[in-house]
Amino acid sequence: MTIRQKLLLWYTGVLATSGCALALALYMFTAHQMRREIEKFLLDECNEWARYCRSTAPNLSEAERTIRQELEAKRYFPLMLRLYDPAKKEDLLFVGPASWREVFPKEFAFKDPGENRIFSTQPVGRHGYGLRLLTMPLDSDTYPGLVLQGGVYMRRLELRLKRLQVFLGISLVMGIGFALAGGRFLAARSLQPIDDIVSELDRIETDNLSARLTVSETHDEVRRLRTGINRMLHRVEDSFRRIRRFTADAAHELRAPLASLHCRLEVALNKKRSTDEYSTTISDALAEAEALTRTVNDLLLLTRMDAQAHHPVFCRVALKGLLDELQEIFGVAAAEKGLRVSVAGEDDCVAHGNQGLLRKLFGNLIDNAIRYTPPGGSVTVTIAKERDACAVRVTDTGIGIPRELQDKIFERFVRVDESRPRKDGGAGLGLNICRSIVDLHKGAITVRSETGRGSTFEVRLPSA
Ligand code: ADP
Repeated sequence: MTIRQKLLLWYTGVLATSGCALALALYMFTAHQMRREIEKFLLDECNEWARYCRSTAPNLSEAERTIRQELEAKRYFPLMLRLYDPAKKEDLLFVGPASWREVFPKEFAFKDPGENRIFSTQPVGRHGYGLRLLTMPLDSDTYPGLVLQGGVYMRRLELRLKRLQVFLGISLVMGIGFALAGGRFLAARSLQPIDDIVSELDRIETDNLSARLTVSETHDEVRRLRTGINRMLHRVEDSFRRIRRFTADAAHELRAPLASLHCRLEVALNKKRSTDEYSTTISDALAEAEALTRTVNDLLLLTRMDAQAHHPVFCRVALKGLLDELQEIFGVAAAEKGLRVSVAGEDDCVAHGNQGLLRKLFGNLIDNAIRYTPPGGSVTVTIAKERDACAVRVTDTGIGIPRELQDKIFERFVRVDESRPRKDGGAGLGLNICRSIVDLHKGAITVRSETGRGSTFEVRLPSA
């Protein structure tokens, strides 16, 4: 069911229910008032005629003549009157159409001496309109035990109530009709802004993601909705642009080594070569394949961290032990290049993190430091315990990073000097991976560097 239909249904439903309740209340109130009027009329008349009967005692035939004259003159709600002797079971007086005499009840029981009047209704005739009756004791010393009964035929009143019913019924049906028409109009008007938004959004494709919804001047909910959608479009456009750039950069990054590999293998196959030449070509190809595998693995790790699909297990990681291990691993390559690698600092510095990811983080930093430091230099790793963090600094005496690029090097595929030979550098993903790992650990990474004098990368991690 659409919102339009739901709105229409609710609107009509609420109006129809309140209309019905109002009509019912009006009908019940009117009927009650009318019945009370009749009862009051009956009571007043019966009291008056009872007084009259008591005063004329014992001449009842004279009284009957006067009563008949009086009552027959009344055109609306003609009153019928009976004076009844329950002991003898006979009427002493009856004014009204003779055929109605039998309708008057002959059995009655006054329950309480204080409540000595009984109202009752007897259905009469084909249509069953009621005869409203009042039965009360005459309370006369002259005629002890006599009962006075007054009756009013309710046909006129019930016909009026029927007409009121018809009137209220027709008004209700018309009201529901108007409510339906009004509801349709209101639903259409209030949902029009949503239709407008949908048609504006339909025009936004992937090639015009910079398009935005127009925001009106009025400060209403639609304006908030449009502004919210615009903010979301901005985020979508931003991530779409980043994904596009990432895909293009990744393709570009993989194309060069693949072309070089292809070329190398093609040249090797051009003519028959010696075993040594084949061996050199294969080991070069293997090195290229390894570099490619590293790049692809780095890309995969970054994509998984971006998609927050990476849920590493965090535990206590003793940083001194981890960095000593890395010193052993990288020490061999550093020594070959004529570099010294040292690790110093507090033994009891324990971070809260993932062992594998922290190894990758510090491995990347030490690897870079060795790679960008000329022979004879040194790489120093220091560990310091701070209030609720562990600070690890990787300092080298290498070529340094120009000031204007120090902020950019943490972005993807950024290399300081594109003219540096590929074998000296990677795909420009290492520091971006470092920053993603640090972010995952809710830490911080910064760099201080001076061209020609060296760099210091500082990583702060929450301690365990
Ligand atoms: P790469 O894999 O190419 O080294 P990184 O993201 O690790 O990519 O580094 C980005 C760039 O920052 C490198 O191209 C390099 O020029 C520069 N860089 C990183 N570490 C150092 C360092 N210790 N000394 C000098 N330059 C560095």
